[in-house]
Amino acid sequence: MHIPNWTYARELAQIRPQIDDAIARVLDSGHLILGPTVVRFEDQFAKVVGCKYGIGVDNGTDAIFLALKALDIGLGDEVITVANTAIPTVAAIVATGATPVFADIEPETMLINLQDIKKHITPRTKCIMPVHLYGLSCDMDSIMHIAKKHNLFVIEDCAQSTGALWNHKPTGSFGDLATHSFYPTKIIGAYGDGGMITTSSSKFEQKLRMLRKYGTTTTYYSHIHGYNSRLDELHAAMLQVKLSHLSNYIKERQNIATMYQKLLSNSTLSFQKSSTLSAHAYHLIVAQHPKRDQIIHAAAKKDIELKVHYAHPIHLMDGYAYLHYKPGHLPFTELAALQVFSLPCFIGITKEEIAYICTSLVNILQNL
Ligand SMILES: *Cc1c(COP(=O)(O)O)cnc(C)c1O
Repeated sequence: MHIPNWTYARELAQIRPQIDDAIARVLDSGHLILGPTVVRFEDQFAKVVGCKYGIGVDNGTDAIFLALKALDIGLGDEVITVANTAIPTVAAIVATGATPVFADIEPETMLINLQDIKKHITPRTKCIMPVHLYGLSCDMDSIMHIAKKHNLFVIEDCAQSTGALWNHKPTGSFGDLATHSFYPTKIIGAYGDGGMITTSSSKFEQKLRMLRKYGTTTTYYSHIHGYNSRLDELHAAMLQVKLSHLSNYIKERQNIATMYQKLLSNSTLSFQKSSTLSAHAYHLIVAQHPKRDQIIHAAAKKDIELKVHYAHPIHLMDGYAYLHYKPGHLPFTELAALQVFSLPCFIGITKEEIAYICTSLVNILQNL
């Protein structure tokens, strides 16, 4: 029995007729780019994340880049975020010309440390970009409080947190803007690339609609310098199907997490710790152990694929050496990079598979 870390095969098998139907509807409709399906999906998705407007774009990286552009953030500005995230969070900031400034994380939640945000605020700081890592919401009440006090924008990176809640409200509903990814592995994953920006500000909404389409509104006339980044009808139609199952997907992910935590509760693994104010969406189920690499190696021998999100903190990557961070600058971020690993988690994983994974891990841990 080989158990992959992730697969879309079983989820797709459940919804295949709906997906085939969605594709056929678009092909027969005569609309391929920014047509009626995208408009409907934008509305539906925005509602789910508690915003008035959704602006569909090419991918989650573009969503961040364009969100920053909508706020006029660029050269000379600083954006506070974390280094234990997917590269796109940082790549998009750098693409605007702005400088990413890394706050360290809290070791138990692996989310941005609030005191460290405050320490890094300078006159050049324009924006805080919290990342709801692995599907767990940051403390958004406190982050909005800090932002308000220092007159900063907040962009929530919700790429991993579709369906997650903070204090009964969806992630994405707190910041000035929120960015979402439909990369295949994400909770609402496309069969290809896709992304969205959500906001409740009509000013930002209008600007983002221009930014994603050469700076135009309806005619071949550019009002502002813009880009080409559009969600297309085929993806929107398939994503609508996925979105209609969101609450079931979240329940299934939470059940998977509960089962892992229960079966591994007496082991030496520690799991990402969730606040009582938080409803975790479990994009990933992440555990920590000092002998992480040995565990992954032993699990592979039992045909269990464990993966690491992420083994290299971004502040120490060659691509960002120009920012002059050194080992030791972000101790908890660096420690997490050495210890974290992600358990198999996908729609359709069976109880028997989870039980096998847990029995194997208990065995591996006892023999380390
Ligand atoms: C996936 C992801 C993104 C965006 O990625 P794309 O592949 O461009 O859709 C941004 N931030 C985080 C934290 C992510 O996980």
